[in-house]
Amino acid sequence: MRSLNFDSKKPLLYLVATPIGNMNEVSPRTIEVLKEVDLVACEDTRVSGKLLKMLGLSKPLVSLREHNEVSASAEVIKQILSGKKVAYMSDAGYPCISDPGSRLVKLALQNDINVTTISGPNAALNALTSSGLCEDHFYFHGFLDAKSSVRLEELRKLADRNETLIFYEAPHRIQKTLNDMFVILGNRKACIARELTKKHEEFIRGGLEELSKLDPETLKGEMVIIVEGSLGEIKPDINNDEIIQMVKNLVNMGLSTKDAIKKVAETTNLNKNYIYKIYHIN
Ligand code: SAM
Repeated sequence: MRSLNFDSKKPLLYLVATPIGNMNEVSPRTIEVLKEVDLVACEDTRVSGKLLKMLGLSKPLVSLREHNEVSASAEVIKQILSGKKVAYMSDAGYPCISDPGSRLVKLALQNDINVTTISGPNAALNALTSSGLCEDHFYFHGFLDAKSSVRLEELRKLADRNETLIFYEAPHRIQKTLNDMFVILGNRKACIARELTKKHEEFIRGGLEELSKLDPETLKGEMVIIVEGSLGEIKPDINNDEIIQMVKNLVNMGLSTKDAIKKVAETTNLNKNYIYKIYHIN
């Protein structure tokens, strides 16, 4: 179903991204929208109340957090359907990204309410871009489980991924998490991005072994962990027949065997000699 967000008779829910550390991250567009709305639904009324006060605004606030997301979302939808203009914001960054909001969005769409996002900062992307580990593809995992056995299992499932991995972590778990990462992922390149956009912003780049030995007392505040993707030579989801077929397709397109193997090595992250071997054996 097609519907223009800003040229429609349908009601519109505004998801508003908020600062992750530096209050100047609030854009003129965010202020414009917050001025216009009748009601602000938010994760924590104290946090959002402060932000609105800083902007010189006063709006009715409604709490919509993880523990009341279902009932509060239904209430917010009622308000929008009764003609109120409503914005939703979480405590920091984008709603829905390791934060509440997804249920509200789904319920809005089910009720024929359009949804728009007012852009702003996001800790994962901020960390990724400065990490030095940003590649074409990345995988955002958010928080790993607090329980070590579950966390190790989660990491095992991620170990073969070729994309750069992005994690959120809390200071009281950082050391255990870095240890688990080193055990499961090996000594990959990684980066801890701490206190982003704040006065004490810090990037700690190194191998997972080195990072896991850092004094946890020096790792306070909010942080994102970026880890290089797998450099493994054999991707479990591609079998030899498929690799050979990829080479054959390129040769049929006019590439020399050598160039075709090089291209397949680049796209699959497999070792050139390995591809050469299986191609010539068959
Ligand atoms: N919705 C947010 C976003 O879009 O980035 C994320 C919210 S999540 C509950 C909070 C986690 O994000 C923190 O534990 C930390 O891992 C990361 N984070 C948030 N602000 C940060 C900052 N200023 N510096 C580093 N990490 C931050």
